[in-house]
Amino acid sequence: MSRHWAALMYHATPARHEDADYFAVPALALARQLAWLRDRAIAGRSLEAVLGDGAESPGVAITFDDAQRSNYEVAFPLFAEAGMTATVFVVPAWVGRTGYCTWSQLRELQAGGWSIQSHTQTHPFLSTLDAAAVMHELADSRREIEDNVGAPVMTLALPNGDWPQRRYRHLLEGSGYQYIATSRWHANGDAERRRGVFGRYTVRRDTQPEAFDAMVTDLPGKLSRESLRLATLSLVRRSLGVRRYGAIRRYLVDRRAATSAAGVTPPS
Ligand SMILES: [Zn+2]
Repeated sequence: MSRHWAALMYHATPARHEDADYFAVPALALARQLAWLRDRAIAGRSLEAVLGDGAESPGVAITFDDAQRSNYEVAFPLFAEAGMTATVFVVPAWVGRTGYCTWSQLRELQAGGWSIQSHTQTHPFLSTLDAAAVMHELADSRREIEDNVGAPVMTLALPNGDWPQRRYRHLLEGSGYQYIATSRWHANGDAERRRGVFGRYTVRRDTQPEAFDAMVTDLPGKLSRESLRLATLSLVRRSLGVRRYGAIRRYLVDRRAATSAAGVTPPS
């Protein structure tokens, strides 16, 4: 019998709601989500912790992409209070920049039970790169994180959910990764564990409590609208190419953010 579990993907976690952009989850909302998990005795843990102990009571894997400083300043204390951990996917080129974690903050997260993993060296669209550039993104980021944090890096989160070209996919294993975290909208089970490729549900500022419940308890019916929206974006990306897609995605996201800020229900 297969037991399914969800992996959640967060980005920034600012203290104040006013500072939350479209993909950010402010402190109050995050605290409520952790309380919801705790009330149901669902363990929120790093992806690597979930994968490390077989299929028994996996709970939910929690991940943060980009390693923004608010993850250290806001999320880390909330997780410690809830007795939970998470994975942070780091872009070494961004470490220490304004708004991003420093290496010493990442070491503190690691000492607190969090898992520090790779999100490539510079956060490119991997499908646009040749073999040497893909290798640099995969291997150098892994080495730099291991050197600075002192713990093994085994997971890569694909920036923008974008894979290297098919002929370069073998480089993923060649550069030492065991697991790939995608942005594909599905729960994980035995098949994902065998392939080492995992779907993740995006949690964002406007994620409603019912939608969060559905992600964690895996009720696909309630998720279909979001999954349809993501499938559309992915189709648009395939037909436009990633460069033009990036511009259009930013436009759509900003527009949706503006619409919902004005209290108008965005068209679905
Ligand atoms: Zn990212």
